[in-house]
Amino acid sequence: MIPHHPVTLDQSINSHENHHDKPEEACGVFGIYAPEKDVAKLTYFGLYALQHRGQESAGIATFEGKHVHLHKDMGLVSQVFNESILEDLPGNIAVGHTRYSTTGSSRKVNAQPAVVDTRLGKLALAHNGNLVNTIQLREELLKSNFNLVTSTDSEMIAYVIAEEVNAGAEWLEGSIRAFHRCQGAFSLVIGTPDGVMGVRDPNGIRPLVIGTLDSSPVRYVLASETCGLDIIGAEYLRDVEPGELVWITENGLASFPWNQQPQRKLCIFEMIYFARPDSLMHNETLYSYRMRLGRRLAEESPIEADIVFGVPDSGIPAAIGFSQTSGIAYGEGLIKNRYVGRTFIQPTQSMRETGIKMKLNPLKDVLFSKRVVIIDDSIVRGTTSRKLVKALRDAGAAEVHMRISSPPVTHPCFYGIDTDTQDQLIAATKSVAEITRQLEVDTLAYLSWEGMLVTTKEDTNSFCSACFTGDYPVPIPEQVKRSKLILEKAVV
Ligand code: SF4
Repeated sequence: MIPHHPVTLDQSINSHENHHDKPEEACGVFGIYAPEKDVAKLTYFGLYALQHRGQESAGIATFEGKHVHLHKDMGLVSQVFNESILEDLPGNIAVGHTRYSTTGSSRKVNAQPAVVDTRLGKLALAHNGNLVNTIQLREELLKSNFNLVTSTDSEMIAYVIAEEVNAGAEWLEGSIRAFHRCQGAFSLVIGTPDGVMGVRDPNGIRPLVIGTLDSSPVRYVLASETCGLDIIGAEYLRDVEPGELVWITENGLASFPWNQQPQRKLCIFEMIYFARPDSLMHNETLYSYRMRLGRRLAEESPIEADIVFGVPDSGIPAAIGFSQTSGIAYGEGLIKNRYVGRTFIQPTQSMRETGIKMKLNPLKDVLFSKRVVIIDDSIVRGTTSRKLVKALRDAGAAEVHMRISSPPVTHPCFYGIDTDTQDQLIAATKSVAEITRQLEVDTLAYLSWEGMLVTTKEDTNSFCSACFTGDYPVPIPEQVKRSKLILEKAVV
């Protein structure tokens, strides 16, 4: 039997109850070409390391010649697969996906990889990101009589490739034509009977890296983050570049820059929060970047206090950095229940009021009568932050100062991150002074936008930071914009 989450009304109630007060990541993707290896098992472990990028469904497709074996279901990677399922996924190529639904409801049929038939055989596609021209693509595909099974933009990309291939193009030519029809964020891993493709959109909004396996001949692996390579002992080679397609076959790896005007705009939120701290970006771990954010935050918004700590786990590196620069002792003020997952049992009313303690419990003797600085990576809706502050005060903290290692989130994301609509973003409608009062903190300060970008030590123009500015690197069609922007809604 395959263990999986029951998808019931309870799930929707509970998923709302448990909805993190954080943006939710879209997806993790993984791909491998290695005839000598157990590709399904390596993909399983790759996805296991990428689990933080999506917890709703997982899937693996393997290619055995032209034949595709596919298994996907709702649930965590460890719930969806077991030894015998993996044994039923033979082949020399595998594509894997772990998903948080940003488009389409959370249903099994929407789980990926999306497998479609073409003139040249099947393709299996795993997508991280979000297209912004899905309405247009859907109309084009419906005109061509494609039977769209799911409600995801990822399936649409697969069908657009199929359409081009069926019109006579070979894999690479057809895929490149299809990518030119897609707008938005797409990091893709695509399996075919002949090889695996790794692709990034011209802005490279979502990450995608290439690794090599210690084998002869050298075999290649693709993963959303380097932590997906580390777990299987693959060596990080380089990123797939914005606007690049890499084609991995029996002959090795070939690169095709498919877009002539790439302009790097990596999602800055990947660096601040989404990606794992042990993943490499720009040749350093994100742990190092996040620590520097904390140092910068201490320079920009100093405060006198007795102890500084981070909201586990994502606020910890910045809290260490803040401590180093401010000289305030670093400690632990909150203990995280590391085994907490989605619960299908409704908490009691009084538990709901105390709320936060299911996940984070304050250390009373550490906090009692102390002036505390609590560091978080971001505030989205503010509901969790408020509960957290109350829990710290109940534990006896004398003063609570909050410092955020990113600027106020004022705009929703259209590129594959679920930040909800603009009216749910606390900083879209409230000033810092108003948020300070609402969260009941003594002081509150955010990192500046310049500080966040300069701290990357990279070209500050090479990042998307639209959720802090509203300056979207890929134009958002009006119809799509209206669905998430309150300002737009008001003028309709
Ligand atoms: S809008 Fe924000 S979350 Fe979305 S891609 Fe840009 S920086 Fe990332």
